[in-house]
Amino acid sequence: MIKFCSLFSGSSGNAIFLGTEKTKLLIDAGLSGKTIIEALHSIGEDPSELNAILVTHEHSDHIKGVGIVSRRFGIPVYANDGTWEAMESVIGRVGPGSCRRFDTGVIFDIGDIGVRAFPIPHDAREPVGFNFFARSRKITVATDIGHINKELLESFDKSDLILLESNHDTEMLKVGPYPWFLKQRIMGKTGHLSNEIAGKVVAYMAERGTENFLLGHLSKENNFPELAYQTACAALQGKGIEPGRDIMLDVVLRDKTGKVVNL
Ligand SMILES: [Zn+2]
Ligand SMILES: [Zn+2]
Repeated sequence: MIKFCSLFSGSSGNAIFLGTEKTKLLIDAGLSGKTIIEALHSIGEDPSELNAILVTHEHSDHIKGVGIVSRRFGIPVYANDGTWEAMESVIGRVGPGSCRRFDTGVIFDIGDIGVRAFPIPHDAREPVGFNFFARSRKITVATDIGHINKELLESFDKSDLILLESNHDTEMLKVGPYPWFLKQRIMGKTGHLSNEIAGKVVAYMAERGTENFLLGHLSKENNFPELAYQTACAALQGKGIEPGRDIMLDVVLRDKTGKVVNL
């Protein structure tokens, strides 16, 4: 069995737990150590049993607690060269054996879980999403995506579960309180994914067989969970796919630990 849980998801901090009976991973640690440790306990996980912290990119909402959690429990941190360069001075020194590097695009193993990082279009040094392979299942985590391209769709293909960014409603963003340069950044090619595009991707992947979707990294200012959900619902229903009956669709929140999904 694979256990998956979004502890927190959004620009105020990201952390995801994924584990088998043997191997336990934390993907990003973008909140205080204390908050992450409490969230792990709340889903029955002991942070000292983590085998790895995997980092998608160096933005603070993904790395804030990486150094703290790693040092406190002696947990190895995995990132690619670009992310290490960009985050090293921010997360502080980790233990001598805790600095692990992976190559984007190359599958490697942590315990009984296969891991593959794939590039995402986002304004960081070498940002990635992840595929996880275990128990003949494939799980994909992909947030902080400026736009969708063919390579991304290939990386998502045949996933059993996808956590996909559904960051903002484009109309809310346009009329919202952000200064224009920030609006430009978010809507740009290396910013964040809108509800509309996320909905289209969900519908496309559902048609190709994916049965479980979580929408994440929602903007606090430019989105509502219900709006993200309904936008994806409409896209799915347009293809004759009914959420709840044919597939699982849920929204994971910035300030609340999500439901545990067992696959
Ligand atoms: Zn982020
Ligand atoms: Zn980011």
